[in-house]
Amino acid sequence: QGAAVTAAAHSSEVVPQKALIQLEGVTKVFETEEVETHALSDVHLSVKPGEWLSIVGPSGSGKTTLLAVLGLLDTASRGTYLLDGKSVLDLSPTERALVRNRHIGFIFQSFNLIGDLSVYENVELPLTYRGMPADERKARVEKALERVGMSHRARHMPGQLSGGQQQRVAVARAVAGDPLILLADEPTGNLDSKNGESVMQLVSELHQGGATLIMVTHDPAQARLGTRTVSLFDGRVVQDERLR
Ligand code: ADP
Repeated sequence: QGAAVTAAAHSSEVVPQKALIQLEGVTKVFETEEVETHALSDVHLSVKPGEWLSIVGPSGSGKTTLLAVLGLLDTASRGTYLLDGKSVLDLSPTERALVRNRHIGFIFQSFNLIGDLSVYENVELPLTYRGMPADERKARVEKALERVGMSHRARHMPGQLSGGQQQRVAVARAVAGDPLILLADEPTGNLDSKNGESVMQLVSELHQGGATLIMVTHDPAQARLGTRTVSLFDGRVVQDERLR
């Protein structure tokens, strides 16, 4: 028994925490009639569960492209991407959509709620796409709306809500399916400072609850809320700094 205890203690020391995201040599080239743009060049990135990455860099440095590749909205031209240990760059479009829907939550600058669906229906839609039974959908939607403090607005339409409230609903939609990773593109870019702070408070709570977050931001103060800052320039990672 002593040996087993020792082995267990030993293994917890030496087994490295598995990466949730592993990018190796990821390159994305956009080819238009006259020019070839290397939006991403040889990007290597490893993200562990529970990390909160801030992706920073000047306009045109590749932040949006990186988020699109990570979110399986776009594919890389070269390189490998392992999500939870599984290769996801060589999937068919249908398989890619399934993985995206199941494992990735998105929060966009412009909220991207569907205007003619209620708050409740917006949060429910990705779960319906997944084929989740109605009773489980209901439980998850209610829990997610409660988590973001929007239960009392479930029957409202997005147009009846403030920007801050719409972003809270978008956060509920992103987390309702328990995704492996949450991707946020300038989540407070369309909000005034008060609503922006309240949405960032919500994001902090998700982080404290164990979420793995990758957030593009222009705001240096916001970037420092994360656990790590990855700086891009000309499609390359030029700095990768652990903050805590
Ligand atoms: P950022 O989000 O940091 O502003 P982007 O990822 O949007 O940067 O863009 C990186 C580079 O790729 C830029 O030079 C941009 O013009 C180019 N780019 C992005 N998307 C496309 C596209 N669909 N077609 C052609 N070039 C693109």
